[in-house]
Amino acid sequence: MQSSAEDRGELAGWFGRRLARPSLLALYVVAVAGLYLALAADGIVRTPVRAEDLRTFAALLACGAVCIEVSRRLGMPAGVARDLLSAWWLPVALLLPPVYALLAPIPIQALLQLRVRRTLLYRRVLVASALGLAGACASTAFHRTVPEPLQGSPAWVIDVHPGVLVAVGCAALFTVVNTALVAIAAHAADPESRWRDVLWTRESLLLDVVELCVGLIVAIISALSLALLVLALPPVVLLQRSLMHQQLQAAARTDAKTGLLNAAAWQREADTELSRADRTNEPLALLLIDIDHFKRVNDTHGHLIGDQVLVGVATTLCSQLRDYDVVGRFGGEEFVVLLPGADTVEACRVAERLRGRVRRLTVPAEEGTVGVTISVGVSLLRTHGQDLIELLTAADLALYRAKQSGRDRVCLPALDDPRAPGV
Ligand code: GH3
Ligand code: MG
Ligand code: MG
Repeated sequence: MQSSAEDRGELAGWFGRRLARPSLLALYVVAVAGLYLALAADGIVRTPVRAEDLRTFAALLACGAVCIEVSRRLGMPAGVARDLLSAWWLPVALLLPPVYALLAPIPIQALLQLRVRRTLLYRRVLVASALGLAGACASTAFHRTVPEPLQGSPAWVIDVHPGVLVAVGCAALFTVVNTALVAIAAHAADPESRWRDVLWTRESLLLDVVELCVGLIVAIISALSLALLVLALPPVVLLQRSLMHQQLQAAARTDAKTGLLNAAAWQREADTELSRADRTNEPLALLLIDIDHFKRVNDTHGHLIGDQVLVGVATTLCSQLRDYDVVGRFGGEEFVVLLPGADTVEACRVAERLRGRVRRLTVPAEEGTVGVTISVGVSLLRTHGQDLIELLTAADLALYRAKQSGRDRVCLPALDDPRAPGV
């Protein structure tokens, strides 16, 4: 039994691990939200209230609310992060004084929190503040550049062509400021993440451009007449729904912890590869990989470090495999890889390489670093089985052999094992 002093030490360590990062993050969120509130309060005091501004603001917010309500039924689980709500922020920023861009995220984020997905409050506060500050930057830049009489009227679209260019620039500024403010928080929460990944991926850049274009079109339409928003709403809603649908499909295929395929998706993709190998008579191998003594990692360093080891192993596996190899997490600390075109020699060579690379992996922990080893069971199409179930059964037996003979090794099914299919 642990002494109470040891208990306290472990608790302090656990809290330390949990709070070291969030405290930095908390400071950042307070700073961003503080700046946001100060600017919003100042904007409310300084901006004269005009009925037409309020009308435009209400119409654009109502469109945003309709978008949220209509796509709500699709669900928005974790992993579905992108929406097209910028289509409504941008017109607010371009057509109205900056204070409206600061205020707009409050009702919309409140609606998202209450009606779509409850998320940690600090995240909502950060997202709302980042959107508000980004909108205010874009709005201020636009209003300083385009002459005042043209701002709220369609003239900046029709008569002043540079006005459209300025609007494009301001929309880009909105995206840059918003992305940067959120990326700093993402990096503070996970200092090991690469800046490139938290800032922009090719997919997110494409979405930013789409959002920017849609936002500008809606801004131009609203500048011409608010009544035209009725025409803009259905296509934006449809785009938003298809974007969500795409993200839901991707989330349903992925293991949230490691980013690898989940068991069901792996099975589907593996079945397709197996049919192809059957048709073309090409070789194909399956590797079943299990981390050795993983329970000890959890027991010694805690589940959070255990999770980081899982992510590290998954990343190492992916970095060592070809694009067309099918890698999945089968659950717990077990991974599965399908190697199309690989014969026995090639499969064992790949498995040994994976074992060697995972051995060299180190994950930082409170007390130094954590390292793990893996055991790998290998099975081959036609030699050990004809379908996925038989191949998995054979690889499982091979993995059992690897564990029995001391772990940290690669094994094929025993030739004399009566339980092995196809042997
Ligand atoms: P062996 O070498 O025989 O495979 O031993 P092992 O300790 O790796 O195997 P065992 O099946 O006894 O333990 C697996 C452990 O993996 C138990 C479970 O708590 C842990 N585990 C399963 N899923 C997760 C997860 O998502 N995160 C973390 N941190 N641990 C997990
Ligand atoms: Mg294990
Ligand atoms: Mg296991």
